[in-house]
Amino acid sequence: MVKKILKFGGTSVGTIERIKHVANIIRKEHVSGNQIIAVVSAMSGKTNELIELSKEISEKFEKRELDVLLSTGEQVTSALLCGALIKLKIKARSWLNWQIPILTEGEHSNSRIVNMNVSKINEFIKDGIAIVPGFQGISKNGDVTTIGRGGSDATAVAIAKLFDADACEIYTDVDGVFSSDPNNVPVAKKIDKISYEEMLELSSLGAKVMQSSAVQTAMIYDIPIEVRSTFTDRKGTRIFDQQNIDYTKSVTGVAYSKDDAKITIIGVEDKPGVAANIFEPLNEAQINVDMVIQNISSDQRTTDITFTVKRNDLSKTTEILKKNKKVKFNKITNNDKVAKVSIVGAGMVSTPGVTFKMFKGLAEEKINILAISTSEIKLSVIIDEPNTLKAVKKLHTIFNLD
Ligand code: ASP
Ligand code: MG
Repeated sequence: MVKKILKFGGTSVGTIERIKHVANIIRKEHVSGNQIIAVVSAMSGKTNELIELSKEISEKFEKRELDVLLSTGEQVTSALLCGALIKLKIKARSWLNWQIPILTEGEHSNSRIVNMNVSKINEFIKDGIAIVPGFQGISKNGDVTTIGRGGSDATAVAIAKLFDADACEIYTDVDGVFSSDPNNVPVAKKIDKISYEEMLELSSLGAKVMQSSAVQTAMIYDIPIEVRSTFTDRKGTRIFDQQNIDYTKSVTGVAYSKDDAKITIIGVEDKPGVAANIFEPLNEAQINVDMVIQNISSDQRTTDITFTVKRNDLSKTTEILKKNKKVKFNKITNNDKVAKVSIVGAGMVSTPGVTFKMFKGLAEEKINILAISTSEIKLSVIIDEPNTLKAVKKLHTIFNLD
């Protein structure tokens, strides 16, 4: 008997019709003899709607109460899906965060699942379907918590691990993981198999199909995942250990995001300790600095430092820089109309010339590169935002992904 975790995203449970459809998918799995725990997101748009409501009360809505509010989205879909299964004459029951319980650690709106009691649910799924709301948990003080936007994926992976499941399937509104964003790059293709590492890079670099911290947990505990569509029967994308994948291409996917901003500090002193002095207060303020470039100084005394941060950290960052008494500089410029375009591929490690090919392709499109960062399996560039799709399509073509 196979124990499966099936997770359904917001669009998959976005209407009553769709919830009934999901109940049918679960019924088929149940009838074929599998033990099922279903994890659900809130109906699509619901979480945003609840956040907007909280803002109508206060822009600084109390975090504890925000978690109470947001967790209701998943409570609604859990109950509706359970009702739909019971209507199909299938034994089903929902469990909320505190009933299991799903124990979390960390701050409100950004907690992590650390443990769950598995006994009651394991007993129930011998002949029934268990339904668990994603995204929510309970702290050791008994407060309702949530685990970060898109967190239902992380709930599914945590359940797969703690229940020692045989399979974890993420049902969504696309056929799987694509070589680029299928909505904007029509030639993008579904990827059949991808390694955890590549998937982690793609999802942290802008691919929206799976939450990156969920991929990270799956990688740490080696939990194979399949991402597939709720609306077709097609095979999805399998995410698993790299050793099981043969790489025929150097690049697996092209991702992009438009949530970065670039800051340049012009005319900083060029001497030991300056970079540390610049970044120390940013670190204290928990601002994540991504790419850093330091120019060679022309006069041996001053230099320019460019770096990128998340766009919504931009004003906080410039404020901190301006207040920083330890660093002398001429001026700060910034640009938030930039995009990050990245190529990702485990095959890059063994293929020479990938960097050159990427830069040459961008040059042919007359796209200026503003910053670069690399790791073993990815290469990212910052470019002007209006060039994003042109760059993505070009890279998709030259790395044979069309
Ligand atoms: N409903 C939550 C969100 O929209 C969690 C999820 O959908 O995974 O972020
Ligand atoms: Mg979602």
